[in-house]
Amino acid sequence: MENCLFCKIANKEINSEIIYENDKVLVFKDINPQAPVHLLLIPKKHISSIVEIEEFDSDEITELFKAISKISKDLELDRSGFRVVTNTGASAGQSVSHLHFHILGKRNFNWPPG
Ligand code: AMP
Ligand code: ZN
Repeated sequence: MENCLFCKIANKEINSEIIYENDKVLVFKDINPQAPVHLLLIPKKHISSIVEIEEFDSDEITELFKAISKISKDLELDRSGFRVVTNTGASAGQSVSHLHFHILGKRNFNWPPG
């Protein structure tokens, strides 16, 4: 998708601190971290948000969740706990219209969220 920040990161047109990648997903550090670990997991194929998930086949959807599981184990987030967030739309504060999951860890998180 032209003029999409996260497509440019996925295509390596814009640098990011990459933690993990395979042919379907990319995980990189959030530029404005809200926790000691704050990563963004994106599919390399553009969709605007989880609302468009029907555009993905089951393999593409599975890869998203398998990558979250892998990262949680690799970074030992699974031991104490972690949070996965996908802000969707204006009221949730979505600022980049390319599906992304925040993976936050290594601190305590409040509930309900702000
Ligand atoms: P959201 O506000 O939920 O759409 O999340 C977008 C996230 O992208 C924010 O947490 C930003 O800090 C992050 N972000 C914006 N630009 C970059 C970038 N160039 N590299 C890494 N993270 C970014
Ligand atoms: Zn995109």
